[in-house]
Amino acid sequence: MSLQDEIKILRKFFPEPAVNSVLESLHQHQIQLRFSRSRSSKLGDFRPAAAGKPYRISLNHDLNPYEMLITWVHEIAHLHAFKKYGRRHQPHGNEWKQLFGELMKPYLALGIFPDDIKEELYQYLYKSGATNGSDLHLRRLLKNYNANATAMVHTVESLPLNALFRLPDGRVFQKLEQRRKRFKCLCMNDKRYYLFSPIAVVVPIDGQNSNQSVYLTKKNI
Ligand SMILES: [Zn+2]
Repeated sequence: MSLQDEIKILRKFFPEPAVNSVLESLHQHQIQLRFSRSRSSKLGDFRPAAAGKPYRISLNHDLNPYEMLITWVHEIAHLHAFKKYGRRHQPHGNEWKQLFGELMKPYLALGIFPDDIKEELYQYLYKSGATNGSDLHLRRLLKNYNANATAMVHTVESLPLNALFRLPDGRVFQKLEQRRKRFKCLCMNDKRYYLFSPIAVVVPIDGQNSNQSVYLTKKNI
C-alpha cells in the first residue's frame, strides 16, 4: 500500500489535522492498524507484538472522527505503557493514564476538538483521579457528534451518482439524477422516489468499510 493510499484511508476515519501524526506513529512503531467491524463491547484494542507479529491496534470502523482519535490515543497509550513497563502495570492504571495524557497533548494543541469535548478531555485526563467509569461522560458527549462531526458530514450533492446512503431513521436511498435543484433518490425500503435538497446531510454507505475490515499496514511502502 502506497503512502498516498494510507493517507487516503486515514482521512476517512480521523480528523484531517491528526492524519500526519497518526501515520507517523504507525510507521515509527510498525503498528498494524485495522478498522474493524463495530463491536459493542469495545471501541478498539491493542495487542502487544509477539512471535514475529507486529503491534496490532484495531478500531471500530464506525466511530466518529473525534472518538476515533481519542480511541487511537487510548490504544497507543497501551503500546507506550507496554514498551515502558512490560506487563508490570495495570491496563488502565496511573502509568497508562499519564501516558494517555502526554500523548493527547499535541492533539489538543492542534485545536481539533470542539470546546465541550476539549473541556471534558481536560477533566478526564488531567484532573480526575480514578479512571474507573470516569470516561462515561466523555463517551456520551462524543456520541453527540456521531451525526455532525465535520469530517463525517456528507451531503447528497457530495455523493457520486448511484451512491447509496442512509438517513438517521435507518432508511436506505440511492442517489439518482438532479431535477432542477434537488436530487431524485430511490428509497430502497419502499421503492418510492423522493426529492432531496442537495445539502441534506446523509451517511454514505461505503461497501468497503461497512462490514469488512480495512487493513492498514506498513507493508509495500
Ligand atoms: Zn484500554
